[in-house]
Amino acid sequence: MRLVIVGGVAAGTKAASRARRVDPEAEITVYQEEPEPSISECGLPYFLSGVVEERDDLIARTPEKFAEKGIEVRVRHRVEKIDPEGRKLSVRRLEDGEVFDDAYDRLVVATGARAVLPPIPGADLDGIFVLRFLTDSDDVRGYIRERSPERAVVVGGGYIGLEVAENLCRLGMEVSLVEAEDRVALAYGPEVAGRIEDHLEENGVSVYTGAEVEEFVGERRVEGVRFGDRQIGADLVIVGVGVRPSVELAEQAGAEIGETGAIRVDRYMRTSLPNVWAAGDCVETVNLVSGKPVWIPLGDTANQMGRVAGTNAASSAGEGTLEFPGVLGTGIFKVFNLGVGKTGLSEEEAEEAGFETLCAAIETTDRASYYPGVGKVLLKLVADTSTGRLLGAEAAGSGADKLTDVCATAIWGRLAYPDLVNLDLAYAPPFGPALSPVIQTATVLSGQFERVRRGIRASE
Ligand code: FAD
Repeated sequence: MRLVIVGGVAAGTKAASRARRVDPEAEITVYQEEPEPSISECGLPYFLSGVVEERDDLIARTPEKFAEKGIEVRVRHRVEKIDPEGRKLSVRRLEDGEVFDDAYDRLVVATGARAVLPPIPGADLDGIFVLRFLTDSDDVRGYIRERSPERAVVVGGGYIGLEVAENLCRLGMEVSLVEAEDRVALAYGPEVAGRIEDHLEENGVSVYTGAEVEEFVGERRVEGVRFGDRQIGADLVIVGVGVRPSVELAEQAGAEIGETGAIRVDRYMRTSLPNVWAAGDCVETVNLVSGKPVWIPLGDTANQMGRVAGTNAASSAGEGTLEFPGVLGTGIFKVFNLGVGKTGLSEEEAEEAGFETLCAAIETTDRASYYPGVGKVLLKLVADTSTGRLLGAEAAGSGADKLTDVCATAIWGRLAYPDLVNLDLAYAPPFGPALSPVIQTATVLSGQFERVRRGIRASE
């Protein structure tokens, strides 16, 4: 059985490793366009600043390591065409441009996503970058070494833009963050977004919201960024306005594309093409809270999907044995000293999905108030008014990771607010307040439910 995998980062290499375990005899080849496989894109912002010192630390496994497991990884090779009837591929070796054919019995598409650089006038000036692959961070680091930029502008206030802003500050640059929407971290509610903006300003980042970039200004190199009637100086610009799924290869082969623009797969990660599976940032999945298709490109999910796709593609019948159920969209990031996490739906997303919601947000402490090092954390819970079920949670501050994960588990288990009020969670002064922020916020939420449910008499 010859298994070919297109794309060799999180989903592709996980699929390859799983397939090897399921079928020790299979012939497995991974084609990877970038010069290295198995890179940690999540670590790139920290590599920019030197928090992660060694480039090699971001490469989990080299082609040589894969070869020891009998997996052939061919880097700098781009698959340009899939012929699903003939089970053939057309591959370009990027070193010399030569094109050759290959054949497969089964195929996993793990082509991921790529960063968007919008066609803003001046976007082709020197000093303007996106950050997606290790090679992008090489380019940014090279530019910083050569030009010693003093003023940096980050365009886009999503989690990647926020992480980059922090890391450019670490390099001593004067950093501005420009966001077209009225707040940063748009996936979060205004309470958390406001916290992030305050924290950025406290750490010296100038934040411009409602500011859509209209032009990058400069002769050959970028010198400024213009939005509305303002222009701010820039020696370096990092654009982090989002990513797009890389679906062209699968689409041209006839694979069905879902309503989110990513490849549609079933719960076994099978595409609509025979003998072709897909996984990672190039596919859409189901949001387990709303039941609707979603595209939430994240590294942990890409690994989980790759595990399912690799197992199923290598299993003897070629039929599904493992299932991938969907996601809650759980994510977390850090900006300076603020941890920010989310799971499930925000209030806005829940209402868009047709839920009527009740929400509670409190700020409390991350440990007993008398214990040294006590910090603050904001927790917001979103619940469905008709059932009391938890739909979403957002946390910002100290211990946000723990609260996010507790809430993710609660949503996964379809718990409602009364369950949360009585959850038996761990407590000792160094670890939390006597009642976890989850319990405290659920208690506030239960008060709101009582008020809604008590109703009023006709006379009132
Ligand atoms: P990708 O990582 O996009 O890899 C796909 C690979 O396929 C690419 O190398 C591409 O060159 C190759 N390819 C594409 N087409 C072809 C072709 N035709 N032929 C051959 N090769 C091809 N996620 C988190 O969960 N937590 C985080 O903290 C986090 N931080 C991030 C920070 C940054 C700066 C970035 C950029 C991403 C971050 N992510 C994070 C997202 C995470 O990195 C991605 O979700 C994950 O890498 C997706 O893996 P993937 O294998 O699906 O796709």
